[in-house]
Amino acid sequence: MKEYIDRLREEHTLDREGFLTLLSRRDPATQEYAMEEAVKVRRQIYGKDIYIRGLVEITNYCKNNCYYCGIRRENRKASRYRLTPDQILDCCRDGYQLGFRTFVLQGGEDGWYTDEILTAVIKDIKREFPDCAVTLSLGERTFESYQKLYDAGADRYLLRHETATEEHYRKLHPQDLSLEDRKTCLRDLKEIGYQVGAGFMVGSPGQTYAHLVEDLLFLRGLSPHMVGIGPFLSHQDTPFANEPNGDLDLTLFLLALIRLMLPKVLLPSTTALGTLHPDGRKLGILAGCNVVMPNLSPSGVREKYLLYDNKIATGLEAAESIDLLKRQMEEIGYRIVCARGDYPVS
Ligand code: SAM
Repeated sequence: MKEYIDRLREEHTLDREGFLTLLSRRDPATQEYAMEEAVKVRRQIYGKDIYIRGLVEITNYCKNNCYYCGIRRENRKASRYRLTPDQILDCCRDGYQLGFRTFVLQGGEDGWYTDEILTAVIKDIKREFPDCAVTLSLGERTFESYQKLYDAGADRYLLRHETATEEHYRKLHPQDLSLEDRKTCLRDLKEIGYQVGAGFMVGSPGQTYAHLVEDLLFLRGLSPHMVGIGPFLSHQDTPFANEPNGDLDLTLFLLALIRLMLPKVLLPSTTALGTLHPDGRKLGILAGCNVVMPNLSPSGVREKYLLYDNKIATGLEAAESIDLLKRQMEEIGYRIVCARGDYPVS
């Protein structure tokens, strides 16, 4: 099994069979080796630096009805909110003081945020904080819309592909959403010039190792600047309420494989990982991650942006606890840096 890890580290890919063997015959020794090698690769590129992003959850209104997501349109129990442009700017001001140099504006697909409103917000953020990067994670929009937001100053866009297999995509989404559209958006974003992030949930209902192999090969082909993966976690008011959560070790293993496959990738240790296990975020770093995204949303709305049950909203997750996070990272030999943390160019 170690030879597969060595080959992945050297050649940055495996064939379908190689990935499938790694995933289906994974044992503790292979897992440990993969994580150690991923950490070495990450250190060669990023040293001990861990980048932080301030996450601003701007709206939990969503026109979509993804079966897994707690803010899906048909969840009538969700208490809806949207932040005004002034509130978003205030979050960035707080974040800047705390040392954040990237702001991630994330939300459901909410038509209230027209191109006009978003371009004005992005320009305001860039005017006040010219040394900061703006990342958007607002779902599917047209090429023209992505272009306008980019021209306004947005630097990066996160849009997980969710699953690269058509048949699995259909199990997770209603008919009005399509994998082809999702992939078109990712290609558009790349063409425009964004630093692009794709990704998927580990352990989403109906997912097999064969699906995960396709996800890895899709990522390899797309070669994104960022990859967001985290465990699927069930939400009580969704059709997947009774589905089991994704597995911690499998998520860590996949993070390590992604680091070996895409050495320079910006790889966050996600909130979902921190929700699944109290040390999840730390373990993510020890599997090759180099980014954490503490929450900068106003405290009054944090408990409303509930994609899944028990989402962490206090403690290390909160941006105000940045000192605690710094200490936790120092304990395992890393340091949080105050920088934009772009994808390395060379
Ligand atoms: N609406 C935007 C989009 O679709 O890209 C951004 C917001 S969406 C809520 C962000 C991500 O949350 C999704 O890409 C999905 O992978 C993740 N997510 C949603 N429900 C989840 C769940 N139950 N467990 C884990 N992750 C989940």
